[in-house]
Amino acid sequence: MPQRAFLPRVCIALGFPDVETLLDRARREVESGEGFLEFRLDYLAEPRSGADAIRAFLAENNEVTILATCRRHQNHGRYNGSVEEQLEILGAAADAGARALDVEIETAEMAAAQLEHLRSKAFVVISYHNYGGTPALEPVFRRMSRISADALKIVTTAKKPSDNFRVLSLARQHSRIPVVVLAMGEIGFPSRVLATSFGGIYTYAAPISAEGTAAGQVSARLLRHLYRVEKFTRQAKIYGVIADPIRHTISPAVHNRAFQYRRIDAVYLPFLVTTAQLKDFLGLVEKLPVAGFSVTIPHKQRILRYLDVVDPLARRIGAVNTVWKKAGKWRGSNTDAGAVTGPLSRRIRLPKASVLVVGNGGAARSAAFALADAGANVSIAGRNPDRVRALAKACGAEMLLRDQLGSRSFDALVHATPLGMFPHAGECFFDDRIPAEVVFDMVYNPRETELLKRASDQGKTTIPGLEMFVEQALHQFETWTGETAPRSIMEKAASEALAQLHGPSTE
Ligand code: NAP
Repeated sequence: MPQRAFLPRVCIALGFPDVETLLDRARREVESGEGFLEFRLDYLAEPRSGADAIRAFLAENNEVTILATCRRHQNHGRYNGSVEEQLEILGAAADAGARALDVEIETAEMAAAQLEHLRSKAFVVISYHNYGGTPALEPVFRRMSRISADALKIVTTAKKPSDNFRVLSLARQHSRIPVVVLAMGEIGFPSRVLATSFGGIYTYAAPISAEGTAAGQVSARLLRHLYRVEKFTRQAKIYGVIADPIRHTISPAVHNRAFQYRRIDAVYLPFLVTTAQLKDFLGLVEKLPVAGFSVTIPHKQRILRYLDVVDPLARRIGAVNTVWKKAGKWRGSNTDAGAVTGPLSRRIRLPKASVLVVGNGGAARSAAFALADAGANVSIAGRNPDRVRALAKACGAEMLLRDQLGSRSFDALVHATPLGMFPHAGECFFDDRIPAEVVFDMVYNPRETELLKRASDQGKTTIPGLEMFVEQALHQFETWTGETAPRSIMEKAASEALAQLHGPSTE
């Protein structure tokens, strides 16, 4: 019987209705370097054909470890037969060469004697799944411990950020028996990345060219090459970004590449955190523990009340996008501000320059305060005169109504509204003449916005939003690590991640 050391750290879950597709996808995984595959026999129209499929596959790929699963529909699988038939199918899978078997707890409790027989043939993982949430886990663990098994697998659904830690901590608390732990769903994604560093024996990933078999699974390529699940250690520092929505963030691509390049033992994770869950997340950061995080929509303002020390500029702006812990205190700053003045000051001299800021939201506030501090003469325009007036007053800027812009010209313009952002890429704040020589668009998805296209056509110098994105990420990296950020590596990672995005970005 194979021991835990035989099981690689990433298992690819393969669930397909016919043997040909299953074998074809399994071969593709092996070609891409994977060596641990879960064959979901319950997904096959004929689960009994699974054993022959395993035999045929192993005849060509005998170095691959196969985990066979035939979960009953009562337990959220697709198999409709009896417990006896289920165990027969799993026994045949082991005879065909499957080195590990997944048997759900409900079956295991009904068939303790047959289970012992299966354990003589293969490594038996007893599994518990909860698709509704993450209940109290100690009773679950006690229930599972009554069954003799080679490993215990506990998979729940994360409903809030702290569920990640509740599931992961099981692996740290119970080191006598090998465990597999993770929380499904988008909120639970960090648990998939951290599972093995917390002591879980493996984690699950989706196949290269298909949906996975559970919510929140991502491809092994991402787990291995971007999140480096096999590389970072138990002592690795954990960073991340909080947002809602989180799906289209490019920050993990940028920061993980930078950590990799600088050989820093750290990982950067996407945390889906709703407005109501911010407090719960701040409990999680103490436990995991998280060393720092990026903050984006909708938390940039609200996060301030939870911080011990806020940088004066961020306090004046009223928004924090970078948080880190130093000497036991949570600190916050705003790297968006420097990410506006940095790119602009590489093109123009900011003191006394006339700069128009378009918009009055969080990003516009960062730009307006930072530019005013840099000595620029700032004007602000937007669609809501009352809000524009309030921001202009707060940072000592001039307020302009939209129809006053026709007669004015500025050295530079900073666009800070979502106009032109995917999927509304055709939109632009300006109807035709763009009233500035240097045009900086904060929107970065698409890379070349309608505003930037029109500005180029009018012979202006343009600054794409991606340059700002990279600049604020560089400052975050340096704040967190104290090392010089690898600018060109981060630029390349941001461009590549953006090119792969097929949806709107959260920034
Ligand atoms: P926000 O706080 O929601 O503010 C949005 C601003 O845009 C508000 O002033 C709003 O005006 C205005 N606005 C929205 N729809 C408009 C429309 N149809 N016409 C005219 N004005 C409109 O958002 P934010 O955080 O400031 O972000 C603004 C943009 O900057 C986003 O696209 C974001 O992705 C981007 N950004 C990029 C970076 C980067 O690194 N490149 C960093 C930060 C932000 P009202 O007040 O009248 O509603």
